[in-house]
Amino acid sequence: MFTIDKETFKRDYKKKFLEIHGRELEDGNNQSKYEALGSLVRDYVAKTWMNTNKRYNSTGEKQVYYLSMEFLLGRLLGNSLLNLGIRDICNEALSELGIELETLENLEQDQGLGNGGLGRLAACFLDSMASLNIPGHGCGIRYKYGFFEQKIINGSQVEAPDNWLRSGNVWEIRKPDKSEIVRFGGEVKCEDVNGRLTFTHINYEPILAIPYDTPIVGYENDVVNTLRLWSAEPVSNEFDFSSFSRGDFLKAIEYKNSIEAISHVLYPDDSFYEGKMLRLKQQYFFVSAGVQSIIRHFKCHGGDILSFDDKIAIHINDTHPTLAIPELMRILLDEEGLSWVDAWRITTNTISYTNHTILAEALEKWPIDMFKKLLPRIYMIIEEINRRFCEELWSKYIGQWEKISKMSILGDGYVRMAHLAISGSHSVNGVAKLHTEILKKQEMADFYYLYPRKFNNKTNGITHRRWLLKANPKLTKLLCESIGEGWIKHPTDMVNFEKFAYDKNVRKELGNIKRDNKSKLADIVYKDQGILIDPNSIFDVQIKRIHAYKRQILNCLRIMDLYNKLLENPNLDIVPRTFIFAGKAAPSYYLAKKTIELINSVAYKVNNDKRINDKIKVVYLENYSVSLAEEIIPATDLSEQISTTTKEASGTSNMKFMMNGSITIATLDGANVEIRDEVGDDNIVIFGLNEREVIDYYQKGGYSSWDTCNNDPRLRRITQDLINGYYCGDKDRFKVIYENLLTYNDEFFVLKDFDSYLKAQDKVDRLYRDSNKWEKMAAINIAHSGIFSSDRTIMEYATGIWGSGFLYKNL
Ligand SMILES: *Cc1c(COP(=O)(O)O)cnc(C)c1O
Repeated sequence: MFTIDKETFKRDYKKKFLEIHGRELEDGNNQSKYEALGSLVRDYVAKTWMNTNKRYNSTGEKQVYYLSMEFLLGRLLGNSLLNLGIRDICNEALSELGIELETLENLEQDQGLGNGGLGRLAACFLDSMASLNIPGHGCGIRYKYGFFEQKIINGSQVEAPDNWLRSGNVWEIRKPDKSEIVRFGGEVKCEDVNGRLTFTHINYEPILAIPYDTPIVGYENDVVNTLRLWSAEPVSNEFDFSSFSRGDFLKAIEYKNSIEAISHVLYPDDSFYEGKMLRLKQQYFFVSAGVQSIIRHFKCHGGDILSFDDKIAIHINDTHPTLAIPELMRILLDEEGLSWVDAWRITTNTISYTNHTILAEALEKWPIDMFKKLLPRIYMIIEEINRRFCEELWSKYIGQWEKISKMSILGDGYVRMAHLAISGSHSVNGVAKLHTEILKKQEMADFYYLYPRKFNNKTNGITHRRWLLKANPKLTKLLCESIGEGWIKHPTDMVNFEKFAYDKNVRKELGNIKRDNKSKLADIVYKDQGILIDPNSIFDVQIKRIHAYKRQILNCLRIMDLYNKLLENPNLDIVPRTFIFAGKAAPSYYLAKKTIELINSVAYKVNNDKRINDKIKVVYLENYSVSLAEEIIPATDLSEQISTTTKEASGTSNMKFMMNGSITIATLDGANVEIRDEVGDDNIVIFGLNEREVIDYYQKGGYSSWDTCNNDPRLRRITQDLINGYYCGDKDRFKVIYENLLTYNDEFFVLKDFDSYLKAQDKVDRLYRDSNKWEKMAAINIAHSGIFSSDRTIMEYATGIWGSGFLYKNL
């Protein structure tokens, strides 16, 4: 185990500072102090990192590679220190040097290479794999610009580039000697060589993929795994003199830029499919580089290619990395010379796939014309996969041509990525029980019938190390004082905390901790926005991507209604509430951006209306990120998880909140169902249409938002307020929201669930007044949150899908 004493640390730190800045620590500013600290921590990690790799190479344990288009890591300094087990020592040592650790930690730029839940899940998984001593590594793209930076200007979202590498990145190591070449375009030459048909890719455009490795530190276990992110560069960085002499200098620059564009920006949209050539390039780029380097490493350490699948598992996070399937096939066939049958067996045994959404608009499909031109050999392989797949379908679904063409990988002029992912992998998992059931029963029913054994559920999780130990030290301390420290390594042991729900002192302490966290957040809100919020009010929080299905609009309509009620009766007996929102809207998602505008308009009006005696406040915090979530969640009383039932595959912020003692108000959607099952109906507030009702309305119709609205005077009033200039002089500003709800019949049942939602909110108000009861609920939620640690999830992946981890060691 890595340990260090205070004096050694101080000496190392001063030395490191001098080394990288060329001056004394006393003369440095905070940024330079952060850089020195980060660099020192990386040095501390380096030896364990090297030893971990040596161990992996010598034991021949199965290695897991988690391929993901997104990794939403957030900051690394605090969590690396925590996992190394030296955060407290460093904190003390630094404070003796007159430096506050937290101040330095907060200077780190978030590594925000993801949109939301999917990318954050990948980050939590890396933390859990390392902490569980599972040889699991991330593979993705080193985007030069992360998800955009959001500013709220005059109530609207304005996007700025997220230049996260501006001040450098102490965590990454560039490894040019581990580069790979990725080939685009060109043609495929087929020839008969000694009786075997061989395929050679010619006239292609080669692109250099350079890896940058980031250490992923396990929790107090001497394991450091690797996140490898690929960056695109021209194969030769040499200045091209011939083009210069021809006057083509600008062309040469343009060419360089066009290549670097591949790893330039993250596409900002997570529930919508974007049919852009550049995105397809990105996908093949990192998948090809990743798979090539996995095979190179495997062979370099003496692996026999025919037992590749015994030693390697490759997991694809949603369909974005599906090209790993034909890419692995290509290498096995064209470079390793295996037969189709062997190559296919190895590929399907190696690859496993997670489905993240049933939203039709998010299902990836690529136009064949474009695909073929960009990836000619990969396309040929997909054609052959599809030919054999359809043969299998013919024998299963005799004469059912319509079904077969619907299931085909190639169809209607497209390559359908989900179909390729299912046929080319041995495991297809959903991310919560309800989601997996819907996949099996509805969205993928035909595939489930064909491959029942491939389908399985792995309910998502979150790392309790970041979301509890790091984000909420006071609650962590209370848990340790109550039930010891065993739960940190075995989070399901948190159930032992349940009995303390009946301990008056513990309940009181829970209340104090929440209040402290709320005060801290109130300070941040005041500093950022100049809005005073009262830590004694209910902190009612909805933070997540802005999306119609997540129904921020439902939340906002409820605030509009409450505001009307307060105007009618300023003495209305309610517990004061602070409504807190945060979240980004995809730049091209008009309705989502209008939702942000509406919330801010309501906020402006409500916050400046003296008549309502500060009973409610509305706050929109800009630039939602992992680090902001770490501030908000421990300070939350009420967690809003109000998506239209069936639409949220799992949700993960719901889990972060419960772990921090928030009470959830929720529809029975995604993992909310499992949270309810864990804590029981008395410790969560459920409302809204259930799965059956939603599916029936979608299939059989019968819902009229117009009628629902007309029969409810509250709804009549607030929907009118959207278009009569009540919240904004420009009457057209929120018309699109009005039309979505009324003209287009409210696809997400906002108006339908409104009454039930308001009743649920009244219940929350009653529960909160009885602080004894509330803290008891909070304690029960905390106690039952351990099962939602991503450690549990990763154990299930390791044993149920990858065949890796402690159960499999030494087999
Ligand atoms: C957890 C998390 C999410 C996912 O939130 P949901 O409410 O589950 O959609 C998105 N963004 C960030 C920064 C997160 O930490």
